[in-house]
Amino acid sequence: MLKILTDGMLGKFTRWLRMLGHDVKYDSNLDDEALIRIAKDEKRVLLTRDLQLQQQAIARSVNVFLVKGENEAERLAALSQRFQISLEFNPDNSRCPKCNTKIRPTKKEKVSKKIPPNTRKFYEDFWECVECGKVYWQGAHWKRIAETFKEARSILASG
Ligand SMILES: [Zn+2]
Repeated sequence: MLKILTDGMLGKFTRWLRMLGHDVKYDSNLDDEALIRIAKDEKRVLLTRDLQLQQQAIARSVNVFLVKGENEAERLAALSQRFQISLEFNPDNSRCPKCNTKIRPTKKEKVSKKIPPNTRKFYEDFWECVECGKVYWQGAHWKRIAETFKEARSILASG
């Protein structure tokens, strides 16, 4: 898993990388100078869509990657090609997309107050973030997520 720092334009992409289990720091208030300093101090890979920031980071010996691509699948494929990261989505290895804490499997009884009645009826497997308390399950939204990862894998395979 990578230690990553994303710039202010990559808030949405940050969530995808956390879902894959990477430790991703994101704070839209950081300016370029702060991004470079944190990436250097914490040995994080800096991801940016800003060519100027990329050039500055290279000049300061920061491990930086310019994220290209029109959609999340293309961006994921580009990152996977560069850093050989897996594009297989496994919730047992995931971090909370919202706050970057590792999510853990939990019992339905424990989270029943946090989930809608229909979800309670149709799903058995749940994960919870111990930091922010958010509960996850493999519902309709999750299927769309899995499709994006599948698309990213096929982009990668086709080079
Ligand atoms: Zn969380």
